[in-house]
Amino acid sequence: MKPARLLADTLILVGLLALVVRPSAGHGAQGSHAPDNAAAPQPKVTSLMQQALAEEFTPGREVLVHLVEFPPHATLERHWHPGEEFHYYLEGDAEIRIDGRPPIKGVPGTAGHVPYKAVHTAVAGAKGAKVLVVRVHTKGEPWRYVAGEGPGKP
Ligand SMILES: [Zn+2]
Repeated sequence: MKPARLLADTLILVGLLALVVRPSAGHGAQGSHAPDNAAAPQPKVTSLMQQALAEEFTPGREVLVHLVEFPPHATLERHWHPGEEFHYYLEGDAEIRIDGRPPIKGVPGTAGHVPYKAVHTAVAGAKGAKVLVVRVHTKGEPWRYVAGEGPGKP
């Protein structure tokens, strides 16, 4: 194969890969409103587990385990959860900004907590971030609400 042909094939391959690995829009969006930053890369959210807790122990609650993968500099829209949220930061870094509280600097090997109904966002650093998220969640409710929406509307 001639070098010029090889270069052309490589460029085509890179272009195809860019299409394949492009983060899909709309992951995690709740409700009918498109996020303000719809054009920005959004985190990929993978549900790893959804497990109801024993009624005699913690009635009406379940635990959700999500793997959240942020592209570099991705920013989550402001949102809240009908539950308590715990983070374990696996890779990269992210700043968790919670209304009325100091921000959490999420770096690998550390953990963070978002209180019940607290409105928050997350901003990934230059390398993106990978975060294991565990929520004690109210059964039957969406896993999150955009700020200003949902019951109680915090
Ligand atoms: Zn959250």
